[in-house]
Formats: sequence, C-alpha cells, structure tokens
Amino acid sequence: MPDRLEEIGAKILAWYKANRRDLPWRKTKDPYKIWISEIMLQQTRVDTVMGYYHRFLERFPDIAALARAEEDEVLTVWQGLGYYSRARNLHRAAGLMVSQYGGRFPDTYEEVRKLPGVGDYTAAAVLSIAFERPHAAVDGNVLRVVSRLEELEEDITRAVTKRKVSAIVTRMIPKQDAGDFTQAMMEHGALVCIPVQPLCAECPVQCFCAAYASGRQNELPVKKKAGTVKEFHMQVAVVREQGRILLEHRREETLLAGMWGLPLVEAGSRSSEELFYEKYGLKLSHRRNLGSATHVFTHQIWKMEAVFYKLQEESSFSPVLYWAEESKLENYAIPTAFKRVLRLL
Ligand code: SF4
Repeated sequence: MPDRLEEIGAKILAWYKANRRDLPWRKTKDPYKIWISEIMLQQTRVDTVMGYYHRFLERFPDIAALARAEEDEVLTVWQGLGYYSRARNLHRAAGLMVSQYGGRFPDTYEEVRKLPGVGDYTAAAVLSIAFERPHAAVDGNVLRVVSRLEELEEDITRAVTKRKVSAIVTRMIPKQDAGDFTQAMMEHGALVCIPVQPLCAECPVQCFCAAYASGRQNELPVKKKAGTVKEFHMQVAVVREQGRILLEHRREETLLAGMWGLPLVEAGSRSSEELFYEKYGLKLSHRRNLGSATHVFTHQIWKMEAVFYKLQEESSFSPVLYWAEESKLENYAIPTAFKRVLRLL
C-alpha cells in the first residue's frame, strides 16, 4: 500500500500528465538544454524565457559552442533577461565541462552542484529531468505546495525548512518518472497551488491537504519579509561625438559586471564634473540635462539623472572607457538600466 506522501506524488504526477503546458524544454532529455532552461527560468517568467531559450540555443547549440564563445557574445544574447551573473556562470560552467568532463554534462549530484551558478535546486532539477535520478528539486513553488499540504509553520526562507521540505518531497518521488514528477510539482505550484487564492477546487490532492482542511491555504507559506531596498541617486554622463558614444566596460567587482554601460557616478556633495574626473579621468563640461530614468534591481534602485556632456579634451581617460559606434550599439551587451537612459536621447 502506498503511504500518504507516495499517493500525493502519484496524484500530482497523473494530474501533470493530463494538464501539462507544452513547453520547448519539456521535449528534450538533453541535460545541456534543460540546464539552460532552468537557469533562464530562475527569476524570469516562462513567456519571457521562451524567445530567449530558442535564440540562445540557436547561437550556442551545445556545451562546446558555449565554451568557445567570448563572454561578451554570451552577454549580448542574454541582453534583456537581467541577472547577468547567470549568463557569466553558464559560460564559465561550459568551459569547465570542456576542460574537466570532456565536453559532456556531468551526471552526479556532487559534480553538477560544483558548476558555477548551480545550487541545490538546479542540480536536482537537471539530474531528475535529464537523467531520471530521484532528487527532490525544491523551488519556491514546491515550498509553497508542501507548506500548504503539510500545514508547515516554518519560515520557508530558512535552510532548515528547505531541508525539511526536501525530505518530504523525496518521499513523494515515484519509482518511475522522477523527471516528470519534478516538473509536475513545479507545474502544480505554477498553475493550481498559486501564491494568492489557490485553485483548491481543481486540485488533485485537495483531500490530502492540511491547509485546505483548516481553511488556512491563504496564510501559508510563512515567509520572512524581504530586506529593505536601497535607493541610489546616480549621475550618468552621455558623451557623444561624430556618431560615437562613450561606453564603460564594467569591472568585475561592480554590479552588472562585464556588461557595457554609460559612465556614472553616485551623486554627492561635489559637482558631477569633479566626480567624473576623479573616477574616470574625464574632463567634461556640462551641456544640458537629458532627463531622468529609474531602474529597480532586486536589492537596490537607481534613480538616474542623464546629462549631455562635452569632452573638453581627448585626454587620457580611464581604460575602462571606449568609443562605440552608435550605429553598432546592438553588438554591445547593454543592460536595461542603461538602455532606459539611451532611450532619452
Ligand atoms: Fe494547494 Fe489548495 Fe491543493 Fe492545498 S488544496 S495543495 S492549498 S491548491
């Protein structure tokens, strides 16, 4: 006789087989493609990922192609998806797979987990979906579904809660179809056991659900409030001459590292001209204000004032600055924050 958790697993799996969305990464068992989709789907909606997934695989169809590419090229294809460290990690991981695993995708949890940008969830998801290994992939959807099914009071942002949920999910995994089960749990969380007003009337495991029985499904899961978002006031220099514009190749230690942006300084008590000179060696004279733009990151907000400057002399400014042809800007990986400013032009 299957126990309660096995029965829940079997019912969610059966529901998935009858109701799953037709998504491109569900038509393959290639771990490379599944890995790319899982990384893209972190923090990004399915509809948005769809176009990027096809473009990315067209340009980098396998591990070797991705490893061979320049980082800048990878960032350019990733442009617009945000959270660029994901793209940099994909590129580094592909390089490692070529140098350490003969260009194949590793198939043990320890090896996959060591790849840059791969956490517990992604390792378990790729191994279960591509290799049918019985690993519990626990993302936000799964934490929510299990918290409600088991009426868990613990904060789901805590590692100890994730471990508890992982142990529960492991007991739900059917003997066959570990890959479909992983997708079933996520699909159920995305379509039925949704964050607000879950569709309990359509739920295949309603009769097992402790939160439904007590009417507490909208109170769960328990989640600690996110930290405060810090606001920064930035001055952005727009320096254009003869069809060229001055771009900064952002350094490793900065936000949006490796991407191309416009020179910017945090507004302070001194004049912006002084700050641009100090940071970049740029001798600028103010021409006119172009307007303002705001960009919201996960933990910070940039309020940007764009100013059109004239370069006083083609002096020896910082080597992180380059003249870029304005007609070829699409060849540069420019994140959305700076595109908002460029749109003011
Ligand atoms: Fe979620 Fe409602 Fe199903 Fe419980 S009954 S698992 S709260 S959808």
